[in-house]
Amino acid sequence: MYDANHLIRQLRESSLGREEDVFARLPEGGTVTFGALFAGAERMAAALAAQGVQPGDRVAVQVQKTIQAIELYLGTVMAGGIFLPLNTAYTGPEVAYFVGDASPRVVVCDPARLEEISAIAGAAQVLTLDAAGQGSLRDLADGQGGFDPVARKADDLAAILYTSGTTGRSKGAMLSHDNLASNSLTLRDCWRFTKDDVLIHALPIFHTHGLFVATNVALFAGAKVVFLPGFDADAILNAMPAATALMGVPTFYTRLLADARLTKERAAKMRLFISGSAPLLVDTHEQWEARTGHRILERYGMTETNMSTSNPYDGERRAGTVGFPLPGVEARVMRDGAEVPAGEIGVLEVRGANVFQGYWQMPEKTAEELQPDGWFITGDMAKIDADGYVTIVGREKDLIITGGFNVYPKEVESLIDDQPGVLESAVIGVPHPDFGEAVVAVVVPEGKGTSAEAIKAALSGHLAKFKQPKEIILLEALPRNTMGKVQKKALREAYAGLFG
Ligand code: AMP
Repeated sequence: MYDANHLIRQLRESSLGREEDVFARLPEGGTVTFGALFAGAERMAAALAAQGVQPGDRVAVQVQKTIQAIELYLGTVMAGGIFLPLNTAYTGPEVAYFVGDASPRVVVCDPARLEEISAIAGAAQVLTLDAAGQGSLRDLADGQGGFDPVARKADDLAAILYTSGTTGRSKGAMLSHDNLASNSLTLRDCWRFTKDDVLIHALPIFHTHGLFVATNVALFAGAKVVFLPGFDADAILNAMPAATALMGVPTFYTRLLADARLTKERAAKMRLFISGSAPLLVDTHEQWEARTGHRILERYGMTETNMSTSNPYDGERRAGTVGFPLPGVEARVMRDGAEVPAGEIGVLEVRGANVFQGYWQMPEKTAEELQPDGWFITGDMAKIDADGYVTIVGREKDLIITGGFNVYPKEVESLIDDQPGVLESAVIGVPHPDFGEAVVAVVVPEGKGTSAEAIKAALSGHLAKFKQPKEIILLEALPRNTMGKVQKKALREAYAGLFG
């Protein structure tokens, strides 16, 4: 369909004629214009091409969040390469797996880890980029001139993002130019992003949320970003009076709520707060509205599908739900091979231009989850109510089967979270000699005075016996990954021996 370098060409065209306008405000005080950003990206593309990067080659990148890292993303795709970002928290052995699986032409890492990464990089060329945007890659790029984007087709790959791999091996989700471009354009329009927006960009850029949702939407809108290296309540609150939008994970919102400087006045110019990547508690939604006067817009997506659903910009943003399928995205809830009636729980499937091309070098895994007619089995349990709102109930693998009965953790968690003195909870299934699995609740108390007995007593009138936790464990905090997702697998492992 397209014979041009689809994604980057479009991103670039969105700010054509505005080369002198500011794209990013940097934490240390400087700014980067659209012109400078794309010129930097061209130099990166030229540097990569000079290192032998050919169309279709992977460029694996494990670096801190800098504008140069954004230029590297754009430059890789300009050169026809496939951008492969890696979580900065990954250890050497983890990086070795990704490099072995993806066999990149180039690996870019922090100079502090050059020796370690070089030892596992195999045939790849290893270059460096540090937290100040300096390193051997930058040196190479600085010597380059302009670069003409390499022609690519809509279905050609632009990125491979490895899933977090909570079960088994991490899988490389292959995303095409069109997957990324179409989804970001849809989001820009649904969320009404324009060149007048100032987006607070505090998400990591090794994940779909910060890299594609935040960065691509801002570029497609020709909007400005306040570019922060990570979550920093001070920096976000300082930026807020002159900003219009924030994209965050739920922990952003709970942490900001804990700060007295979050007020209606401070948020007066903001027009949109967006949350995703993990469930936003109804309580957080309500507290946020009371404090700022804004209703958070919650959306849902995953690495494999980009964004699939969103609460409406106009109309009711319903707390606890992830809204409606985006334009061009279909969603259905399936059980035993058939679609379930409205309001019933099953496994969510989605279809549309947003859905990825499959898992890198895993045709069998791909065939298990991506059906020939285009429906992708998300692995999320969900329901769609009569009004069309989608509610995510949790991952299918987190479903608890106890004595043959299904227990959806979210139902139990919601009741526990409603108890006085409870901050939040995670409900898991652990092996049990009689029941197969037993329901266990891990609860984070708020202040003192909460007891496991009081919670148990409060639940007994509200939940069928088989859904009631056999054990309640009080913890100071739930284990979370960098995207704020509760790590239920780690909890299941920690309490696996609870019942002998
Ligand atoms: P990832 O591929 O790391 O983006 O993780 C995707 C998973 O995060 C989804 O399959 C959901 O389980 C979860 N997720 C994302 N957004 C939401 C949301 N708004 N509410 C509940 N779960 C979400």
